[in-house]
Amino acid sequence: MLRIHLQIEGIVQGVGFRPFLHRLAHHYGLAGWCRNTVFGVELELEGMPEQLAGFRQALEQQPPPMAQISHIRQTPCPRPLGETGFSIRESCREGHPDTLISPDIATCPQCLAELRNPSDRRWRFPFINCTNCGPRFTIVKALPYDRDMTSMSVFPMCPDCEAEYHDIATRRYHAQPDCCPVCGPDLVFYAHGRESDREDPIAQAKAFLSQGKIVAIKGLGGYHLACRADCPDTVALLRQRKRRDERPFALMCRDTEAAKKLCFLSDEEEARLTSPRAPIVLLRKRPECPSGLSQTRELGIMLPYTPIHHLLMEDFETLVMTSMNVSDQPTLCDLGYGRKMARDPIQEQARNLADGLLVHDRQIVNRCDDSLLRVFRGKDYFFRRSRGYAPEPVRLTVEASGILACGAEQKASFAFSRGRNAFLAQHIGDLKDLNTFRFYEEQIFTFEERFGIETTRLVCDLHPDYLSTEYARKRSREENLPLLQVQHHHAHMAACMADNALEGQCIGLIWDGTGYGTDGTIWGAECLAGGYDSFQRLASITPIALPGGDRCTHDIGRVTHSLLWSAGLAEESTHPQSLQLTLMLERGLNSPKASSMGRLFDGVYCLLTGRQQVTYEGQGAILLEAMADENETGSYSIPLREEGPLLLLDTAAFVPVILADLKSGSHPRQAAARFMNAMVCLALRQCQWVREKTGLHRVVLSGGVFLNHWLLSRICASLEEAGFIPYHHSRVSTNDQGIALGQTLIAAKGGGTPCV
Ligand code: ZN
Ligand code: ZN
Ligand code: FE
Repeated sequence: MLRIHLQIEGIVQGVGFRPFLHRLAHHYGLAGWCRNTVFGVELELEGMPEQLAGFRQALEQQPPPMAQISHIRQTPCPRPLGETGFSIRESCREGHPDTLISPDIATCPQCLAELRNPSDRRWRFPFINCTNCGPRFTIVKALPYDRDMTSMSVFPMCPDCEAEYHDIATRRYHAQPDCCPVCGPDLVFYAHGRESDREDPIAQAKAFLSQGKIVAIKGLGGYHLACRADCPDTVALLRQRKRRDERPFALMCRDTEAAKKLCFLSDEEEARLTSPRAPIVLLRKRPECPSGLSQTRELGIMLPYTPIHHLLMEDFETLVMTSMNVSDQPTLCDLGYGRKMARDPIQEQARNLADGLLVHDRQIVNRCDDSLLRVFRGKDYFFRRSRGYAPEPVRLTVEASGILACGAEQKASFAFSRGRNAFLAQHIGDLKDLNTFRFYEEQIFTFEERFGIETTRLVCDLHPDYLSTEYARKRSREENLPLLQVQHHHAHMAACMADNALEGQCIGLIWDGTGYGTDGTIWGAECLAGGYDSFQRLASITPIALPGGDRCTHDIGRVTHSLLWSAGLAEESTHPQSLQLTLMLERGLNSPKASSMGRLFDGVYCLLTGRQQVTYEGQGAILLEAMADENETGSYSIPLREEGPLLLLDTAAFVPVILADLKSGSHPRQAAARFMNAMVCLALRQCQWVREKTGLHRVVLSGGVFLNHWLLSRICASLEEAGFIPYHHSRVSTNDQGIALGQTLIAAKGGGTPCV
């Protein structure tokens, strides 16, 4: 007989791990105990050596579906104690928390069956969950993960639930968010701001929806606005209430069959849709799909992932299900809890947007938007890595403890690291919004104070005015922590290297909107060479003057005017303020220069269509991709210029090429395709230039421009054809949400510049 002690780290709490250990011990005839600790789960086992070995093997090979074991430490105990039976002990709260929190998990098939079974005591209960599914990260206040550390603490269990919670044979054994109609949260429907007297809030919400009204729904990580997808008037009204937002609306489909009616669906895409992480998956639209939902070739679709969704979708094949945020703020959610929901300020806001409100009184502790991804070359390609993924760590190839990476600004996020784990925050939003900035600070505090992650050094962007930089500087001063600054495009490059576990030197093809350069100018279409510790900038585009600075992001006609002016063609500009803009450019008034690929796309879009204004950043580039003729293989010639070590696309000489093509009668759809094909050639030329200088042939692709599928797929193919090995993102987003991962690696590997 032997007795051993095991310490298991990873995602091992809130995923049915202890019942699993209990069953396993029973199966192998072992005695002992297990308990949750701040480190994960620990247990002692006693039995014959071969039984212990069998247990260990099964533990590693068949853990519960949602568990992720990162480390098992086994130590022998001095002697067997002659114990009989296996018990689950009270959680131990001593020490520094070091366990991982599970992401939220979509309703599992067993719970769904109970939800639909009239003889089950949770029949049609909108909060049904078990150890394999339900809310996790969004309800956790602190570790260890026990009920009193979650927003379920205000709902004492009824005797029936209590019995299940303690019964090892049930699926709800130690399921912390477990509840039932007797003891659980309540769902309430407010019609036009007044609490409805109807019995069934789901039925009331369904009635509103089918009448073409807009309903705000409190979900797992925030609020959604829902309406019928097949009513163009309702969809138009929703756009109007969301301040004429032209962003594509996400849809919720009842099942994959409903999704297939709107979009083409590959097996890989279907697997993402139906996975327990339940992200929004971008799918190619069918030609007969109604317009008004998205102006692009794709639609973002998700399947129901909470019991509330499943109940609602009984009456609808498809609903618009867009987050209730306005502009780039994070998903709105309440901060108060208990049964005071009527006075919630967020619900005041919901009243202005929706006709009805379907809400519950389970507090959202950590708000979390829906994740958004596309499947690219068989892998996840994130636009937003959030619900269902956060705060699951990204595994690193190096140790990187104690680093807090503060991210960028517009698609803000941050990352903590401990050992070989980098914990990336969910999508936070644009820090220039005050509420979003508070959320950013609060969420960092939550990770540090409540989840016990320690910060010993800081790393931030090189941009002096980013609010994340300001935050890092302040903490560095106040807590006397060392601070590193990392150039934006270098961080993108390192993020993609870390995403692919690359070491050594690479070519970094980093195309995005804007980032602060080491020379104090704004960069954005860069080709770099280097590794985590250092980099050189070897190719770019000639800077474009942006009259009015940030105003160019929405008033894209200003960019077009600037491009035409620099080519000596200002008279071709159709901008209403043409004369003032020329004056600004001539005198260099408030016209910062940026070698931004994002702005070049915007400028060309306006040139092709005459549309001067867009409603959100990057819309010009997105619409340019959407309008391009996919059968067009032609390309514009790209005027290049050498300037010292730099190879530059001459933007001033490029614009007349496009203009001449339009004047010769080419359709704008062809011109859009030829322009993007020219950018594919530019990418290849930039990489060839760097290869000639350095001998490198591995290329990492990062930056928001690579959300453009046309460019991403064609650039990858053309690089491969030319003997390069392209690498793209698959674990973090290619846009600025992924920056924090790159900052972490650069700090861990001795790169960046110390901030004094
Ligand atoms: Zn379940
Ligand atoms: Zn109950
Ligand atoms: Fe960027």
